[in-house]
Amino acid sequence: MGDVKDKEACVLCSQPVEISGFSLTTRDGLKKFCCAGCLSIYQLLNEDNTKPTITPC
Ligand SMILES: [Zn+2]
Repeated sequence: MGDVKDKEACVLCSQPVEISGFSLTTRDGLKKFCCAGCLSIYQLLNEDNTKPTITPC
């Protein structure tokens, strides 16, 4: 293990994101997660923030 790149921290558990692909676009921007579990938990906790943009009348 030589190269330690700047890994992004999982938004939910703050662990380094080893695998890309678990990301979610929110109103605050792109959030990255270490695993599908964190992604879905975040999604549940932030349901309002992660829904596709819906503009009420
Ligand atoms: Zn995580």
